[in-house]
Amino acid sequence: MPKVYNWHLGREMDYRFAGGPAKRQFAAVFNINRCIACQTCTMACKSTWTFSPGQELMWWNNVETKPYGGYPQHWDVNILEMQEKANPGGQVWNATQKDPRTAPYGTFEGKTIFETADQINNMVTGYIPPEEDWKAPNIFEDTATNYPKQGVELPEHSGWFFYLQRLCNHCTYPACLAACPRNAIYKREEDGIVLIDEGRCRGYRKCVEACPYKKSMYRPSTRTSEKCIGCYPRVEGSDPLTNGLPMETRCMAGCIGKIRLQGLIQAGADGQWIEDRQNPLYYLVQVEKVALPLYPQFGTQPNIYYIPPRWVPRDYLRQMFGPGVDDAIAKYTNPSRELLAVLQLFRATQEIIFSYKVEPGPKTSEITVAGVKREIYNDTVIGYDSNGKEIVRVHVDEPLIERPAQVTMNTI
Ligand code: SF4
Ligand code: SF4
Repeated sequence: MPKVYNWHLGREMDYRFAGGPAKRQFAAVFNINRCIACQTCTMACKSTWTFSPGQELMWWNNVETKPYGGYPQHWDVNILEMQEKANPGGQVWNATQKDPRTAPYGTFEGKTIFETADQINNMVTGYIPPEEDWKAPNIFEDTATNYPKQGVELPEHSGWFFYLQRLCNHCTYPACLAACPRNAIYKREEDGIVLIDEGRCRGYRKCVEACPYKKSMYRPSTRTSEKCIGCYPRVEGSDPLTNGLPMETRCMAGCIGKIRLQGLIQAGADGQWIEDRQNPLYYLVQVEKVALPLYPQFGTQPNIYYIPPRWVPRDYLRQMFGPGVDDAIAKYTNPSRELLAVLQLFRATQEIIFSYKVEPGPKTSEITVAGVKREIYNDTVIGYDSNGKEIVRVHVDEPLIERPAQVTMNTI
């Protein structure tokens, strides 16, 4: 079994193929703190790609309420339990020694879903959810753990829930790809998008079984599996709106809560990100480390990163996002001047931002955050496309626009 380097785990791991990482990688950062569960992303995807017969239970993008919700139900609890059973008590992190680039969260000392599989009957540990588990994508929506006490303050609430936005992670080491006996799944070198070749697929559902995030789905009407295609025509720049330049996916572009920022990251042959300090995603993930991968311990090196919710008990979040949670929440709660500016780029444009610059602005206020006094400046952040051309310019202070008292238009 070849060894590959997984920087989320801070170590090498077993994977079916030696090669794999793309030169440019589809990636995104989601700010959980801002999501309002409006499901616009979900419907943008559904109405574009999965509205046909046989796709009724298919939601490539979904937003579920944690801790009780899940699509399919209990997907994460089920795989976590299987992993724990395969390696009792051993699924732990050692966060005492870190390296900013090769082991930013420390080292995962447990076993990945590739390493708990027997490699004879199964390349990956997983399971196929029964049909009932796919039928209620929003069950337990808005269900909190208990009723919060009056006057509870951040950082943690006694009663809590949060929304988790999910789609295919276009993993650097996809479990779906490793499990396919027909070699029908491939990862594109130009953007890292993971696709199923429908002509080769015979519907064995090994990908459905293997994907720990359950983002490969079976379509009974065609007897093949299907999954998120990363809106690749938009990422390729085929949409006329951006004149040939890479554009964000439907779920990203439609986000009402402005929680999503998509990018294309330069990656090396070892799957690590090549330093690109002024790329907003590189900055958020590698420099500030304010956005973290979902269940990195599974071992697929997923490419959707999350700014964790501030109010949720840390043990729960550490299990979900690894040991980087406390630092990430501290940074987000009291952001640096640069971080505050970069956070304004979320949903400021449909074109993919490849680099940014911050221009300093005047001091506008002084506030106290978690007992720390800080000054707020109205800085300007400018986003550039893949050719270095300016595509967006936003300020830290949102403009206040007053409507005229008397409206003469649009009255009936
Ligand atoms: S999230 Fe699942 S379906 Fe998507 S690339 Fe990773 S393993 Fe494959
Ligand atoms: S569109 Fe944005 S705010 Fe609305 S549910 Fe989706 S991720 Fe959350």
